[in-house]
Amino acid sequence: MRMWGAALLMPLAAALSAAQAPEPAATGAARIAQAALRDPSSYALVESLTTEVGQRLAGTAADARAVEWAKAKLGAMGFDDVHTESFPLTAWIRGAESAEVVAPAPQKLALTALGGSVATDADGIEAEIALFRTYAELLAASQGALAGKIAVVTQRMVRVQHGGGYGAANPIRRAGPSEAAKRGAVAYLLRSLGTDDHRLPHTGALSYAEGAPRIPAAALSNPDADQLERLAARGPVRVRLLLAPRTQENAQSWNVVAEAKGRARPEEIVLIGAHLDSWDLGTGAIDDGAGVAIVATVGKLIASLPQRPQRTVRIVLFGAEEMDRSGPAYGAAHEGEARRIVLASEADFGARRVYAVLLPTAVAGSDFAKALAATLAPLGAFVDPRAPLGGGDDIHQLQKAGVPVAYLGQNGLDYFDIHHTADDTLDKIDARELAQATAVWAAFTYLAAESDVDFRAK
Ligand SMILES: [Zn+2]
Repeated sequence: MRMWGAALLMPLAAALSAAQAPEPAATGAARIAQAALRDPSSYALVESLTTEVGQRLAGTAADARAVEWAKAKLGAMGFDDVHTESFPLTAWIRGAESAEVVAPAPQKLALTALGGSVATDADGIEAEIALFRTYAELLAASQGALAGKIAVVTQRMVRVQHGGGYGAANPIRRAGPSEAAKRGAVAYLLRSLGTDDHRLPHTGALSYAEGAPRIPAAALSNPDADQLERLAARGPVRVRLLLAPRTQENAQSWNVVAEAKGRARPEEIVLIGAHLDSWDLGTGAIDDGAGVAIVATVGKLIASLPQRPQRTVRIVLFGAEEMDRSGPAYGAAHEGEARRIVLASEADFGARRVYAVLLPTAVAGSDFAKALAATLAPLGAFVDPRAPLGGGDDIHQLQKAGVPVAYLGQNGLDYFDIHHTADDTLDKIDARELAQATAVWAAFTYLAAESDVDFRAK
């Protein structure tokens, strides 16, 4: 009886275990990539966020509405857990802003205040400008050389696909105001960190240095920076500047977190993030509604798999990237679990196609890298063997705590034409390109979560 029973039962048991055996990771990755290409969710999410919430300046009522939006959307996607983690910040709120050339040829200038800038007096500042065509020339000016002047830096940022021109030019905006103030300037203007030739200026955060006077600072549109260069070449130029931003102390923002628990090693976490906040000029479609849409869709696809990957996939929608607050807040709150976060990446470079993935050096040339390359090839992306320089502003703190990061390179050739401008709106997003980026992120995330690879350098 027993023999017969076993003989009868064995084919059934074999069939059952075959059905339950994990399929090869590459098969699952390819399947989830195909599902992402067909899934309209990523475009629908960014359409919903930019339409129903609009701009989402950190620490404001709009930010709080964005968080409610995120909780509702993620809550309907099949995650095991959706929650928020709050952190304090000082909100900065734009006010009236205008500028004009007073002499020699009166005319309006298109500019916008930098995030964090102090206001001018209520009736503005009028002064002669001191114009520098490069930031290095400003830094070479001696103490007191800019006394009573409005400092203007017109250095251009360089257009490249991977966006490296932005990082190179970033100190002009971040540190420039305090460097000018140390030399006596009463206000600071820079050429927008942008690669366009339209008259929409690009905002972005500054960071005042300790000990330097805090002076008002704004970004000129590219054509207006050109105009000041031509005027300054002809003789002295006087400019009037009015900025009326305000701050709100004791504001708060939230990181929104969702998890799909792993089936075998749930304590190990693959973290993918994007930032929910945006600047206030546009509706934050490419920065970073697109990233929110990508990672939320990837999380949804993984959460709803009949068989979850081995490791947990955690989605984090960071609340105040533009103000440099959410990454440090998340890193400080999660330092204790840094060992368990096996890999992190952030989607914060627009809505265009991913063309390359850069992996931690520990897995360079590994079977994991080969499997990923094979999965990405049909999607039109490759594994770049170089090490990632960084993974994104919000995961920088985790990286410093030892968390390995990967970088998924999207085509950013025209990203800085509209980044941080009033033109960052939904119409700039191509749903098919966004779906491709979502598919690459899905395949990458799935493979990392299904593997038992240690991404940490030995
Ligand atoms: Zn961003």
